[in-house]
Amino acid sequence: RNVIHVCMTGCRAYGAAEVLQSLQDEVKRQGMEKEVEVRSTGCHGFCARAPVIALDPLGVQYQEVGPEDAAEIIGQTIKQNRLIDRLAYKEPKTNKPIYYRDQIPFYMKQERRVLALCGRIDPTSIEHYIAAGGYQALVRVLSGMAPEQVAQEVIDAKLRGRGGAGFPAGLKWKFARQSSANPKYIICNADEGDPGAFMDRAILEGDPHSVIEGMIIGAFAMGARYGFIYVREEYPIAVEHLNCAIAQAGELGILGENILGTGFSFSLSLKMGAGAFVCGEETALMASIEGKRGMPRARPPFPAQSGVDGKPSNINNVETFANVPLILKNGAGWYAQVGTENSKGTKIFSLAGKVNNTGLVEVPIGTSIREVVFDIGGGIPKGRKFKAVQMGGPSGGCVPAQFLNLSIDYDTLQKIGAIMGSGGMVVMDENNCMVEIARFFLAFTQSESCGKCSPCRLGTTQLLEILTRITTGRGRLEDIETIKEIGRTMTEASLCGLGQNCAKPAISTLQYFLKEYEDHILENR
Ligand code: SF4
Repeated sequence: RNVIHVCMTGCRAYGAAEVLQSLQDEVKRQGMEKEVEVRSTGCHGFCARAPVIALDPLGVQYQEVGPEDAAEIIGQTIKQNRLIDRLAYKEPKTNKPIYYRDQIPFYMKQERRVLALCGRIDPTSIEHYIAAGGYQALVRVLSGMAPEQVAQEVIDAKLRGRGGAGFPAGLKWKFARQSSANPKYIICNADEGDPGAFMDRAILEGDPHSVIEGMIIGAFAMGARYGFIYVREEYPIAVEHLNCAIAQAGELGILGENILGTGFSFSLSLKMGAGAFVCGEETALMASIEGKRGMPRARPPFPAQSGVDGKPSNINNVETFANVPLILKNGAGWYAQVGTENSKGTKIFSLAGKVNNTGLVEVPIGTSIREVVFDIGGGIPKGRKFKAVQMGGPSGGCVPAQFLNLSIDYDTLQKIGAIMGSGGMVVMDENNCMVEIARFFLAFTQSESCGKCSPCRLGTTQLLEILTRITTGRGRLEDIETIKEIGRTMTEASLCGLGQNCAKPAISTLQYFLKEYEDHILENR
């Protein structure tokens, strides 16, 4: 049967709902309901060409589709090509360009493992997830594996936390299991807040069961009976799909008491965050779950010893959990076939800014920045020059052109003052002012600082004042040293990661684009 997959998540902003309706109407009008299914799915990744639809099993994609294209797509493409065998597919004469997905440069260098089902299954259907191999990993785990074995398999797979810190996920579970206190909690951090980052949103919207399955497996490994998904309220489709997925899993006995008759019980609830960036920090997130104001606290004690309600708690982010079923289903050996020595698997990046092919990109860890920006991203619009890419959001650094061949992994990026972060990549071209970029990120972190500790509360305010002064022609040469000194103090003395890292955009642009600062200051003398 032909299935037309219509992205009804990100593409909605470009009119996908009207496209879906017109395709459904057209199928009805042509009496092809038995032959053609029009399916609402998650994101296909190629956001620059929204609305995107995919036609399977032909492996064909249509881009920038409008409701007016429905008659042609249904009539020409499907009706005249009823044989669904790819080999038998004859490209029809159409006005609308047809692309074979495996020949589109945007997809050719990608390895879509975590995103494999996004854009293919209906995220509100647990049957679709199960038919695609979903929950097989959970069945394997609950059919005789010991919790320690499960954690060990994830350790062997070298899965590092995809939220930014890169701590080995299996080790975290092992430590949490070793605590004798009960109950234990497992938490999914779905509070994605970096400007330009939308990886986790896409997973939750397009394949929510993969995250739930990863959480149940993690809960089994660490001995948790309860779990929370902390998701920001600004993600209404993600919230809707998660609620639906949790209810469906409960109905099928995949969540709740005595899961699949194995004696293991696990309950999962959604907690909605109000969108404070600082609530992505794990101690602030846990305070928010407890109903308190989301503010970080000093560590130790670490969450693995004392988290929600003082009980051992483990937090991983959305993408980390979505990787777990892949490991337990296919084995650590399979998983570790791609990646670098210390970090295996793939990483999803949201490619945004001055790049032709904006969207969601999943590549093996270790892929170079050049491959992502040029081979997959299609380079810089209007033939302009690449200047830098901001990696890791407001806590990350700017990576200049001289490092284009650098491989993207946790350790390499740290050496040049950047971080992989959760996966935001914002590309800048020759027309971007790097001082203005640093000011933009500082304005964001200054408004998001919770104000609990003075190095961050005062430091972000001072840095923003100085950067605003420089970009508005009132800068002084001594401002450059002051920025560095404030940055050092904040890194050493701030209580949480927000304050410790938020000077990075200023420090890294100073390191690689000092002349732009000097030009701003000297030009206006
Ligand atoms: Fe709050 Fe900033 Fe201190 Fe973190 S570093 S606790 S965000 S004031």
